[in-house]
Amino acid sequence: MSGETVFYRCVNCGECCERLLIDRQGVRKGLPLLPHEKEMFRESQIKPGIGIGENTGDSGFRIISYQMTENVCPHRRLGGCIVWASRPTVCRAYPFMPTITQGGLVIKQYDLLCRALSGLTERAHEEPVRFEPRSVAREMEAAEELSKVTLRAVESLDGAWFYDLKSDGWVPFRSLLGET
Ligand code: SF4
Ligand code: SF4
Repeated sequence: MSGETVFYRCVNCGECCERLLIDRQGVRKGLPLLPHEKEMFRESQIKPGIGIGENTGDSGFRIISYQMTENVCPHRRLGGCIVWASRPTVCRAYPFMPTITQGGLVIKQYDLLCRALSGLTERAHEEPVRFEPRSVAREMEAAEELSKVTLRAVESLDGAWFYDLKSDGWVPFRSLLGET
C-alpha cells in the first residue's frame, strides 16, 4: 500500500464509546474532557484529569482537564450518540488521540481498535497508514485542541499531576512518561 492514502469514514459501530477505561502507563484513564465539557455528564461520573501546581493541596493548584469515569458512555443510546452535535473534543478527535512518547513529545496517534480502521490493521503493522487528508481534517483539528492540554502538562512537568482512577488519587504526570 506504499503511496496509497486511505479514506477514513466512521461506521458508527459505537465501540469507541463502550470501552472508555484504559489501563496504561501504570494508571487507569477515563474519557478525557476539557473543563467546560464536564457539565455534559453527571457530577458522580466526573473526576479530575490533569492538574498543575507544585502540590495538589495548594491553593494555587489548578485542574486543566477532567475525566469521565464510566467504561460505557451514558450518552450512547439506541445505537447512537445522543449528544453527537455537541460531543466532547476527544470524541470529535477519535480515532486520533494525543500520545506522549518516551522522549516527552506529544504526537497524534490513531487507535487501531476503531472498527473503521480494523480492516487496515494487518497492513498498518507493515507500514504506517496514510490518511486522505480531507477525510480526517475535522478529527485532526479536534486532536490538536486536545493535544494542547497534554502539551501543557509536559511543559510543566515538575508541577504536573494526573488523577489515577485506579488508586483514586493524584500521581506525578512524569510517571506517565515511563512506558507507552
Ligand atoms: S459522548 Fe457520544 S461519541 Fe462521546 S463517548 Fe459518549 S456516546 Fe460516544
Ligand atoms: S470505533 Fe471507529 S468506526 Fe466505530 S464509532 Fe468509533 S470512530 Fe466510528
